[in-house]
Amino acid sequence: MDKERKLLIAGNWKMNKTVAEALDLVQGLRRELANIKEVDIVVCPPFTALHEVSRAILDSNIRLGAQTMSEHGFGAYTGEITAGMLKEFSVRYVILGHSERRQYQKESSALIAKKALAAHAASLKPIVCVGETLQEREAGQTETVVGAQVRESLAGLNRSQMEETIIAYEPVWAIGTGRTATTEQAQSVHAFIRKELTNLFEEAVARRVRILYGGSVKPSNARELMTQADVDGALVGGASLEIRSFADIVKNSI
Ligand code: PEP
Repeated sequence: MDKERKLLIAGNWKMNKTVAEALDLVQGLRRELANIKEVDIVVCPPFTALHEVSRAILDSNIRLGAQTMSEHGFGAYTGEITAGMLKEFSVRYVILGHSERRQYQKESSALIAKKALAAHAASLKPIVCVGETLQEREAGQTETVVGAQVRESLAGLNRSQMEETIIAYEPVWAIGTGRTATTEQAQSVHAFIRKELTNLFEEAVARRVRILYGGSVKPSNARELMTQADVDGALVGGASLEIRSFADIVKNSI
């Protein structure tokens, strides 16, 4: 598939996998995906497995991501992890503002913007998540909500930082529910996000930013989603926990 931007497919393992299980999964992915050059492949294990997974993907086409990080550089923030600590394990990407963190940890878009700046300061590429709830969609507020999240979560980034930032559109009602947005629903919000980026930065920047779709992506729906002009990859939850399904999503996307 010829796309304007290189596809990126990231697996968000969330709070799953012991170190031994993480190694089984990533070694299997390494075998299955060894020949893939058309897609940037990223796995985001829990913090506890980063070290071993980073060793297991050395000299491969799989890159490492983390699921969150602190906005601070050091200090008395019990339980938190800095961007610099992630860099020690060769982490290249970090998911910020996942809807589960917005919901359970009460992360605001303003906080996510601070984290995005801290990530860039350490040369980590943030994957900034946005998305509306079912109630918001049904009330016709999708663009208002997503537009505000985009503006506020990216506040303060300069153009070159924006180009190195990835956005993941994840309708909350499609996460872990088996309900996928239709390709038309996904494309429509992705195009809207790109328009917002054009307004905030400029068209040349907006054209370079990869916008991933997330929400019940599976091997059976990956290809159709990726055919959409503004869908540049996927952030995958449940289906990233098994070798077969994640490998097939990557292969079916090409
Ligand atoms: C996610 O949580 O980022 C996600 C997209 O989950 P799932 O694929 O399980 O819907």
